[in-house]
Amino acid sequence: MKIRTRFAPSPTGYMHIGNLRTALYCYLIAKHNQGDFILRIEDTDQQREVEGATDMIYQVLEETGLHYDEGPHKDGGVGPYIQSQRLDLYHHYAQKLIDLGGAHYCFCESNDNNIDPCTQLSEKEIEMKLSQNIPYVIRQTIPQTGTTSFEDEVYGYIEVENQTLNEGILIKSDGYPTYNFAHVIDDHLMKITHVVRGNEYLSSTPKYNLTYETFGWDKPTYIHLPPVNKDETHKLSKRNGDASYQDLKEQGYLKEAIINYIALLGCSFGDNEILSLNDLIEQFDIKHISKAPAIFDIEKLKWMNETYLRKLSLQDFHQLVFPYYQHITQDIDFLELSLVLQPRLEKLKDIETMTDFINKPYPFDVSLYTHKKMKTNPETSLKVLQLIEKHLKDFDNFTNDDLLVQLFISLAKDNGLKNGQVMWPIRVALTNKSLTPGGAVEIIHILGQDESLKRIHQAIIDLTLYIQRKKEIE
Ligand code: GLU
Repeated sequence: MKIRTRFAPSPTGYMHIGNLRTALYCYLIAKHNQGDFILRIEDTDQQREVEGATDMIYQVLEETGLHYDEGPHKDGGVGPYIQSQRLDLYHHYAQKLIDLGGAHYCFCESNDNNIDPCTQLSEKEIEMKLSQNIPYVIRQTIPQTGTTSFEDEVYGYIEVENQTLNEGILIKSDGYPTYNFAHVIDDHLMKITHVVRGNEYLSSTPKYNLTYETFGWDKPTYIHLPPVNKDETHKLSKRNGDASYQDLKEQGYLKEAIINYIALLGCSFGDNEILSLNDLIEQFDIKHISKAPAIFDIEKLKWMNETYLRKLSLQDFHQLVFPYYQHITQDIDFLELSLVLQPRLEKLKDIETMTDFINKPYPFDVSLYTHKKMKTNPETSLKVLQLIEKHLKDFDNFTNDDLLVQLFISLAKDNGLKNGQVMWPIRVALTNKSLTPGGAVEIIHILGQDESLKRIHQAIIDLTLYIQRKKEIE
C-alpha cells in the first residue's frame, strides 16, 4: 500500500517550530517510503482565521523544500484540500454517523452532563425540534461500556475506558465541523495511512477511533510527537520571539540549518548530524522518534548555522550576505568583507552590528588603546600610528593582505616593538571598537587606502589632544 501522510495546519499566521517539525516528519515518512505527502488546510475555526495565514503556510513549505504532492492548487483527486470547502461532505457523513448510532443531535444550550440527555430523545422529538428551528449541534455518541485501545508508534499501547471519553461536538451550531470530526472524515477520504501530529491529540485518539469503527473504516497508523520545549519547564513562546520558523529566519538562521536542526529534535539519526533534506529522507526511521519532550537548544542551532555558513563557497556566501550590506554606504571591498565574515559569522542578523564601524568609526575612546596583553597604551599607540601613517602614505598594495602583514611586522621589528603593539592601535584607530571582524590588515583592506588613512590621521589628532590635556592636568 502506498504510504500517504498529511500535514494539516490551521492557518494561524504562525509556523511554530513544533508544527514545522510535524510537517517535516510527515514529509520524511512519505518520501522515505516513496509515498505521498499531502497538505490540508484546517480552517474550520473561522474565528481564529488570520488573513494571509494560508499563504504563509505555502510559502514556508516551498522555502524549506517540503513540497507537497497533493494539496490546494495541486489536486490528486481527493480534494478540495481546504476544509471550509468540504462542508457538504462533513454534513453527509455526519448524517451517516447519526444513522449508524455514532452521533446524535443535541439541543442543549450547554452540556456539562456526562451523559447527554439528548441521547434519550426519540426520532419524533428530534424531528419536531428540527422543524421548530431550535439551534442544535451534532455530538458524538460514546458507548458507556467497554474500552478502546490502539497502538501508537511512539507512545505504544494506549487503552481507555469508553465512559471516560466525553461526547464532544462534531458539527457546531454554525454548521462547521470541529477538528474532532473533520479530520477523521478527511483522513479516511484522502486515504491517509500515517497520521503524524502533536501528542496533544493522543488522549482524544480513542474517540476518533470509535468514529472509524462505527463507519467500519480502517484506522491509520498513529505517530504522536512530543512537544518541543524551551527548557524543562518553559514552552517556546510567541512572545519571546523564539517559537516560530519566521522568528528564526528573522534572526538570521538559514533554512537548511533550521530544517536540519528540527529534524534532530526528538529523533535520532546516525553520528553525522549535518544532514541535507535528502540525507534525512534516506535515514529517517519512525522507530527512532523519542517520546521525551525535545528541548530546543539555540546554541546547537547556532553551531549548525555556522557549520552551514562555513561550508558555502565564498561566492555563494557573498551572494547570500550581500543583501545584508544595504546599510553600508562607504565604497568598500565587499568581497573582502565577506571573506572576513564567513569564518566568524553566527547568523545573518549579526552582520549589521559586526559591520557598523564601516560607514564611520565609533567615537574616540581612549581606553581602548590600553590593552594589557598587547602591551599598549595611548602613548605607545600614538607613536605607532604616526609611524604607520608615514609608511602607509607611500604604500600602494592595500588589497594585498600578505604585503600589509609584512609591512607591519617589519615596522615592529625595526622599532623594537611587538607585533600586537603595532596591530592593536591600528585596529582601534580604524574602528574605535574592541571587537571587530578581522584584524588591522583585513580592515585596512576592506576600507581601502583613503578611508584608512583618514581614520588613522583622525586617531593621531585625538590621541595627541588627549595626551596634551593629560599633561596639562599633571
Ligand atoms: N489542525 C490541527 C493542528 O494544527 C492538525 C492536527 C493534526 O495534524 O491532525 O493542530
